[in-house]
Amino acid sequence: MIIDNATLLIGIGFSSASLLLALLIGWFNSRSETYLVLGATGMALIVVALMLMGLRNGAYTLFFQLVPFALILIGFSCVYAGARRFRNSKASLWPAAVVGALSAIATAVPLLLGLSGLGTLMLKATAAVLMLLCAYEHIRSDDQLRFALAAIGTLYAVTAISFACCALMLALDGNWVLSAPPKNWAEDFNSIMSLVGLTGIGAITLTLHHARAAHHHHQAANTDSLTGVLNRRALFDRFGNAPPSRNSAVLMFDLDHFKQINDRLGHAEGDRVLKLFSDVLQRELGPLDVISRIGGEEFCAVLIDVDQEKAKAVAERVRSVFADLTLVIEQGQLHATVSVGLAMFEGDEDFPALLNRADAALYQAKHNGRNQVKLAALRLVA
Ligand code: GH3
Ligand code: MG
Ligand code: MG
Repeated sequence: MIIDNATLLIGIGFSSASLLLALLIGWFNSRSETYLVLGATGMALIVVALMLMGLRNGAYTLFFQLVPFALILIGFSCVYAGARRFRNSKASLWPAAVVGALSAIATAVPLLLGLSGLGTLMLKATAAVLMLLCAYEHIRSDDQLRFALAAIGTLYAVTAISFACCALMLALDGNWVLSAPPKNWAEDFNSIMSLVGLTGIGAITLTLHHARAAHHHHQAANTDSLTGVLNRRALFDRFGNAPPSRNSAVLMFDLDHFKQINDRLGHAEGDRVLKLFSDVLQRELGPLDVISRIGGEEFCAVLIDVDQEKAKAVAERVRSVFADLTLVIEQGQLHATVSVGLAMFEGDEDFPALLNRADAALYQAKHNGRNQVKLAALRLVA
């Protein structure tokens, strides 16, 4: 190798230490992201182990085997626990604890029996398994950032291969008692992968964390917090500048006498009615249709690829399903209704104009006695 192993190990230690600091700062700013603190703890343990291995100066005594090996395996288990929490923030920590404990036992027992070669082989083999498990968790993560996930999964997998190569070389060598750390191409490959893997994985984890935070902020800014459907801003972002495609319809919904529901039953029950209505919309509309809450008790749905008959049928179904719902409340039962204005998209019309026509039809539905669907008049073209 161009630089000796000890210098390389200390170099890896310092570069990982700065990354783990960055991970800790990330966790400090968003405490719910426990994968960051688990990853940073794992890295810290690995850094201490690498420093010790860099300092051992050729001495391959029981202390310089047991302590760094245990630190590496506990560190990798923390990284694995972090990978599980990255994929699912509520994932249990038990699988990582069990795999970590089994790996530590499988490595420590031969070392304590004086079989340093077999102990070293077990360290490399169990480290490979832990790295593969980390690769699996990232590749299976359901996240927007497919490219970064594929990159981090590949880094974990190649690091796992480098550990497996070391184990294979030791097995082929068949020397179960070592007086010095093993030296061969696989060890060099493993040292380089430890440098590339640790720093690369740390850096990509930070990128994923920032991208996730930005995605969450974007979602929160576009979602109505009570019902979970899009808010007015998101609706106009989607259609404000570019009108919906041809064969679209806009349905404007306004709950009937909603103020009375609030006044009689209180705001909390009113909120429950709003949520129930949004559930009906989400159940009755198609996956491509866009639902939003544009005001207090006003909702708007844009139906994609429908003709007038179909749009009318959808509006009528939502109206009747909601009217037939019996809401159980403290005081007994409650029936609520909704009025609907429907406008079909007419070619070169812009989105606000389309909404205005649906709104005018809704006003007509209210005027005619509520709990009904009213079709908008055609647009007057000069
Ligand atoms: P109409 O049939 O003519 O639509 O009568 P309405 O009572 O539904 O209409 P109005 O516009 O007079 O009242 C709407 C009420 O919606 C008033 C307001 O207190 C209530 N509201 C607005 N936002 C919320 C909300 O987030 N939660 C609850 N519970 N009520 C809300
Ligand atoms: Mg209203
Ligand atoms: Mg109303």
